[in-house]
Amino acid sequence: MIRYAEVAINLPIKDEDTLTYEIPYELKNVEVGKRVEIEVRNKKMEGVVIEIHSLIPNYKTKFIQRVVDKEPIITTAQIELGKWMKEFYVSTLGESLYKMIPTGRRNISGEKLDIAAESKLLKLNPDQEKAYKSIRSTFGKESTHLLYGITGSGKTEVYIHLMYDLLNNTDKSAIFLVPEISLTVQILKRLELIFGDQLAMLHSAMKVSEKFRNYQQILKGEKRIIVGTRSAIFAPVKNLGLIILDEEHDGSYKEHSNPRYHARQIAMQRSKMSLATVVLGSATPSIESFYHAKRGNISFHTMKERAKSAELSKVFLQEKKDDKDIISDTLLFKIKQRLDKKEQVVLLLNRRGHSPLIFSKAEKKMLECPNCSTNLCYHNKGKAICHLCGYNESYAKLSDRMNGEIELMGAGTQKLEEYLLEKFPTAIIERLDQDATKNKEILTDVIGRLIAHKIDILTGTQMIAKGLDASHVTLVGVINANTGLGLPDFRSSERVYSLLTQVSGRAGRSELKGEVIIETSNSTHPVIQFATRQNYDEFFEHEILVRRDLLYPPFCRLIRLLTRSKLETKSADSIELIKKELDIRIAKSDLKDVIVLGPAPAPFYKIDSNYRNHIVIKCNSLQKLRDIIRQIKMLPLPAGVYLEIDIDPMDLV
Ligand SMILES: [Zn+2]
Repeated sequence: MIRYAEVAINLPIKDEDTLTYEIPYELKNVEVGKRVEIEVRNKKMEGVVIEIHSLIPNYKTKFIQRVVDKEPIITTAQIELGKWMKEFYVSTLGESLYKMIPTGRRNISGEKLDIAAESKLLKLNPDQEKAYKSIRSTFGKESTHLLYGITGSGKTEVYIHLMYDLLNNTDKSAIFLVPEISLTVQILKRLELIFGDQLAMLHSAMKVSEKFRNYQQILKGEKRIIVGTRSAIFAPVKNLGLIILDEEHDGSYKEHSNPRYHARQIAMQRSKMSLATVVLGSATPSIESFYHAKRGNISFHTMKERAKSAELSKVFLQEKKDDKDIISDTLLFKIKQRLDKKEQVVLLLNRRGHSPLIFSKAEKKMLECPNCSTNLCYHNKGKAICHLCGYNESYAKLSDRMNGEIELMGAGTQKLEEYLLEKFPTAIIERLDQDATKNKEILTDVIGRLIAHKIDILTGTQMIAKGLDASHVTLVGVINANTGLGLPDFRSSERVYSLLTQVSGRAGRSELKGEVIIETSNSTHPVIQFATRQNYDEFFEHEILVRRDLLYPPFCRLIRLLTRSKLETKSADSIELIKKELDIRIAKSDLKDVIVLGPAPAPFYKIDSNYRNHIVIKCNSLQKLRDIIRQIKMLPLPAGVYLEIDIDPMDLV
């Protein structure tokens, strides 16, 4: 009997989920979950076998050419999850499955962690104990918990106790997600000491071979505690019992290519499929999660005291209107005080590069990237760089072109570093931002030295705001705190509030008292005020009203449809066509309360020479609308136009 395989490929095929191939008689080892080599439109491709059958198709089939894997690398549970993702995110099965298969970089060496860490479980304080016991009591049931604890309240210790319990008292496995692995070196070291050979890591900074090895050990059930970034949510663990998303509000949990999934949504779905417990942890939860916790839709646990008897640092606001110096005399004086006492300072400036603006005196405007709707930024070593597409031009050339009539304006982290070196020539100063950490080893090294008290001042972008636990940091300064508030996006307040709170949390984590100075030209802005008072509840009460009045999540669901094309008119015409077809279909349906905004140019209208137009749909229920979106996806668009579909987008820029 001839056997056929249904193969899912990693391409946005429109009509069918899988392609059917004949299994040659001599190929005995084709199995569901293995990758195979096939020919698609005369091109060699790879796909995953998701079904084997003997139903003769009514068209001529090609043969499978080769089997790639010795053992299946996709489980039947993952195929089920893939089918759900395909429906939920209006994507294809193949695209969904390929998000689960490890990919990675080559030629990077494993990080050696030279950091001291406690190897035993610590005793929980009453708040921690209460949260731990309550979460543990739901093991074995589909459940979701929000663990809302201020910075330094010891959320990690609760996670560790939960995983320890699961490992020793059940036969289940746990997945522990963090936003960025390099910043959690301290936690990783502790997990290594506590869980030993049961621990496996899965993250993007790993070598692909290493990642595959770990993935296979997880498949076989040899590893039961998995730590990783976003895509580790797909880890093929046996018997999933617990999923933890630390810093659940973090933007890195959202995927930026098709299917644009959110790890939190995948966690909830996996919880449903395997009756697992989900723990969302944060000091500044996403507005949606906090809202659902307050309404009792998910369980709510609060920890309002710092562990280790440390106090939350006092936060002071410093109004700074002039651009004379990068930082105020007040902050400068406080830095000097700390350096004299051999204490450490963390300074956040959430802008990379040297000077974020290059002003053309002749044209009386800022110089923009030729490929993007954004300004060029001046970087050290004489380069003008675009942060959206990477375009760069030598400053000398640029200056020549403008007859020298240009001026650098504003300050980024490189300029701040220069300024600090000049003011404190004997201090040891390090900078962490995307430019400084192209090599991941630098990141680990700097963090290790900060913790070991070998750095006096650490400066950088939002990278330095998360997770760091250095006991001698007693002063945190935020420079230009209003950066980001001007972004035309419904989540910009939430992001800035969270950043300011997170970075403030780096100070005073031991018996040494901490202090935070927030410098801003806009001290009356509500977000800055709430962050200064360190009162998330107050911020939430304010922000939830804004969301309700302007109708944004959690009061509606969003879908964003975006066309991009190198040809401006094609992008615009396509979005017009989509809008027309959308209106017709919505009118014909029994859908109520659907609001279609646009079409309009996206706030970043041009990125990397692609013109972007979008439509934003607000609705109460995604279910029926998805069918319409799927029909829209099938519309034939002109060559060179791409349609991005984003269900529950994290931003609209
Ligand atoms: Zn650009």
